[in-house]
Amino acid sequence: MFEMNHSRWKKLISGENCPFCKPRLDNNQFWDKIATLSTSTLYLNKKQTYLGYSLLIFDGFHANSPSEITQDEWIKFSQDLYVAQKAIEKVVNPTHMNVAALGNQISHLHYHIIPRYDTDPRWGAPIWMNTPEEMAQLDTFLDESTRNQLIENIQKALNT
Ligand SMILES: [Zn+2]
Repeated sequence: MFEMNHSRWKKLISGENCPFCKPRLDNNQFWDKIATLSTSTLYLNKKQTYLGYSLLIFDGFHANSPSEITQDEWIKFSQDLYVAQKAIEKVVNPTHMNVAALGNQISHLHYHIIPRYDTDPRWGAPIWMNTPEEMAQLDTFLDESTRNQLIENIQKALNT
């Protein structure tokens, strides 16, 4: 079970070894890059239990909350969220969309963009469960060609 004590939290908000600070790999065990937007980068999560699940990560510098960036940066970040959510929605046609900014484990500003389906395993509730082990039981991954096609479709939708 994930533990967050005071010293770990202090280190996290300092940005030391922050996995969301740049430079970031375009592809790693957690994501594949979809596109660079005005002040953030959009990635498709490796886990696709909720088809289209993506992360939008603030690019500028290490910031933990809106109070650490300017209003102009916040507006750009919000615009990026708007275009990203709209493009994903267009491609996967979900029943509903969840957008979450939690920052409990990685405090660097980011959004989870989570398409929801009335057939999904957590429909009617947040996707997060009590333990990572419970969550892992639902993990779903796409084969490479389906995944690449999804990324390409979202890229096209972002540009239309
Ligand atoms: Zn950071």
